[in-house]
Amino acid sequence: MKLPEKVTIKEVGPRDGLQNEPHQVGTENKVAWINRLSDSGLSYIEVTSLVHPKWIPQLADAVEVLSSIDRKPGITYAALVPNMHGLRRALEGNVDEVSVFMSASESHNRNNINKSISDTLPVLKEVVTEAKAAGKTVRGYLSTVIACPYEGAVPAEQVKEISTRLFDMGIDELSLGETIGVAVPTEVERLLEQLLSEFSEERIAMHFHDTRGTALANISKALEMGIRTFDSALGGLGGCPYAKGASGNVATEDLVYMLEAMGIKTGVRLEGLIEAGELMESILGKPLNSRQMELYRKVERG
Ligand code: MG
Repeated sequence: MKLPEKVTIKEVGPRDGLQNEPHQVGTENKVAWINRLSDSGLSYIEVTSLVHPKWIPQLADAVEVLSSIDRKPGITYAALVPNMHGLRRALEGNVDEVSVFMSASESHNRNNINKSISDTLPVLKEVVTEAKAAGKTVRGYLSTVIACPYEGAVPAEQVKEISTRLFDMGIDELSLGETIGVAVPTEVERLLEQLLSEFSEERIAMHFHDTRGTALANISKALEMGIRTFDSALGGLGGCPYAKGASGNVATEDLVYMLEAMGIKTGVRLEGLIEAGELMESILGKPLNSRQMELYRKVERG
């Protein structure tokens, strides 16, 4: 197995994790948590989302969070942006990178964004163009790349077609989201064979959910195929509020453990993540759902 020397981990907990968290977290606690994440060696943190607070009340303080965190040099602080209004707010919060999002399947896109795929593309194009004009890099998220909660299997050709549209708009990187956490390595291989025939592996990231315990196996397959950027959330927080049963991003600390033990550098300190995890457990008043946090609790508390 040919492995990369290093991998970039993109921490999405403060956005993708919290947006699915029923316990309302105060602004000061979010800021303290993000600062703790910044101390762990992560080079990328998705801080918040500028969607309308009506949809995600948890992240209504997006601009305030962006303006209040300590910015460490070398870390990219990103935010999710659905439209031009969101982009203006993100720029007001001096975001480093803008993320746009849509789904590869029609019904998930309609349920998540309230628009058809063809009506979503021009909205995203305007955001990408304006964000680039403002000097920001742009990341595209594509959800349901393997399967859709409403339609079942999503053909890889369809994923490739929409990916082409997103790259044509000018996005710098595309994150492929396995939204419902059903994928297995053979499916990841089929998907990546399609996409890597068209796009460089340097511009593709993968976003796995661990709903059925297959996330690390899928990441291992993607690594083998040349992917070097992965999304994860501290403590396995998150999921998708609109996709039933879709719980849990792959946990950052479990991913860091695996990669470092494979000899792949992540730049992230496991102890730093555990510290950030402990803080989040005290804020949420519940244990976080990762193997590393579980082990830590057992060892610490006997
Ligand atoms: Mg996710």
